[in-house]
Amino acid sequence: MRLLLLGPPGAGKGTQARLLASRLKSPHIASGDLLRDAMEQATPLGREAKAYVERGDLVPDEIVLGVIAERLKAPDAEGFVLDGFPRTGGQARDLDRALEDLGRTLDAVLHLEVPDEEIVERLTGRLFCPQCQRVYHVLHDPPREEGTCDDCGGPLSARKDDDAETVRHRLRVQYHEPIGSLLKYYDKRGLVVPVDGMGSVKEVSERIAKAIEAGT
Ligand code: ADP
Ligand code: AMP
Repeated sequence: MRLLLLGPPGAGKGTQARLLASRLKSPHIASGDLLRDAMEQATPLGREAKAYVERGDLVPDEIVLGVIAERLKAPDAEGFVLDGFPRTGGQARDLDRALEDLGRTLDAVLHLEVPDEEIVERLTGRLFCPQCQRVYHVLHDPPREEGTCDDCGGPLSARKDDDAETVRHRLRVQYHEPIGSLLKYYDKRGLVVPVDGMGSVKEVSERIAKAIEAGT
């Protein structure tokens, strides 16, 4: 299956995409993870993206498309769970062109809906593993051992762009402003499936599983 997860930053896209990808045995492809990797390795694209990511702004389309299009060409990406891309109508058109070149189409676009007040709480409590990119929450989804990743044993840290002020900025410029045109684009093709993102990680993952079953 080829699935997209849309939703505000902090909606739980990465958390759910990881579970979904493991169930579907497909890769979880996250634009934020690919950009952070590129920044860590100080590639030319990573160096260009850095200031935008740190400010909580959208990285220009051509930079993000560069990292995503490359990843989609990999032999393991026949099916995928895409998280964080596209975020604008322009990126949605870019994605369609990239998929068309590969002879592929999307099966569903899941829109995870979570109110802003909850987002700030989730993101200011988020921990992540820079080694394997798994995310946790200090209260809602803690690691087994404090400060250590369950999967790879790496040390956990908070993301620099998860402070309350940057989160509010990200919500506005990366979600509230562009989401309307993005949903309209996919709605025309009947692909959008709204999913209530409130409740426990397990409850949301069960809702997603049901939504996918109902649509296939
Ligand atoms: P996104 O990828 O949409 O930015 P994440 O998956 O990183 O969001 O989740 C943001 C934060 O919220 C993380 O700390 C994560 O552990 C936590 N989280 C995810 N799903 C839930 C949930 N259903 N309830 C409470 N916290 C959650
Ligand atoms: P995320 O891990 O999804 O929260 O993304 C981290 C940061 O990477 C965002 O705050 C943006 O600066 C940037 N980013 C991720 N995905 C995109 C995208 N599709 N378009 C533009 N910028 C993005």
